[in-house]
Amino acid sequence: MTSSSSSPPRIALAGIPWDENSSFLRGASEAPPLIRAALFSKASDLRSESGIDFPPEILTDAGDVPALTGRAMHEAIEQFIGALLARGLRPLSLGGDHAVTYPILRAFQGKFSPLTILQFDAHSDLYDVYEGNRYSHACPFARIMEEGLATRLVQMGVRTLDPHQRAQAARFGVEIIEMKDWRAGLELALAGPVYLSLDLDALDPAFAPGVSHQEPGGFNTREVIDALLTLKANVVGADVVEFNPRRDVGDLTANLAAKLVKEIAGLMLR
Ligand code: MN
Ligand code: MN
Repeated sequence: MTSSSSSPPRIALAGIPWDENSSFLRGASEAPPLIRAALFSKASDLRSESGIDFPPEILTDAGDVPALTGRAMHEAIEQFIGALLARGLRPLSLGGDHAVTYPILRAFQGKFSPLTILQFDAHSDLYDVYEGNRYSHACPFARIMEEGLATRLVQMGVRTLDPHQRAQAARFGVEIIEMKDWRAGLELALAGPVYLSLDLDALDPAFAPGVSHQEPGGFNTREVIDALLTLKANVVGADVVEFNPRRDVGDLTANLAAKLVKEIAGLMLR
């Protein structure tokens, strides 16, 4: 890292139009331009609730990773994010499905150590293999933990665990705050650099209908924003994933994704 510790952090948006590893529905690859449109819409200000504005010199748009497939897309994502990190930028990626997070974290390897991941998700995405695919969007956090790309993984909002995923969580020492055990006001103090991965299906489908796997019983929007506002952590990178525009209702989920991008960006600049 060449940027001096005195210069303020800068964020780069990176669109990742990729959903070939989605197990149930395609469509998440169409999300990045719609999140951008909502983010830069005149319908709302480009400001976080914590009072931070995002002029272009603070929040730059790095554009989209070229849309490739398979191994080539893994490499393209890793290179794209790696180039942003090399410029001292903090990447905020717009998925795509959750399979994007594994190649993103490969780009982070060795840059921040130890690295904690905070994941909001209805699912733990810890399958060793899902329907024959080790790179399925149901598997990224198994790959990440196997390769030691994070020291610590904390998951919030999970409400779909099966015995295999419980065994995987135990194997990797994953700390899961299941949705049934979560209570408002829970404060997370995470030491050291944090990578934040937000799967929009962590929210209740009443608030985020535009996702491939609608799992009732999730967070409301206010609860996620409050969790972000009260998070004590140095967030060095983030992604917002699993927005599926084909299932959205009246742009609700596009606007939600944009809102959460602003709150996460505010957190990254704090
Ligand atoms: Mn997920
Ligand atoms: Mn999920």
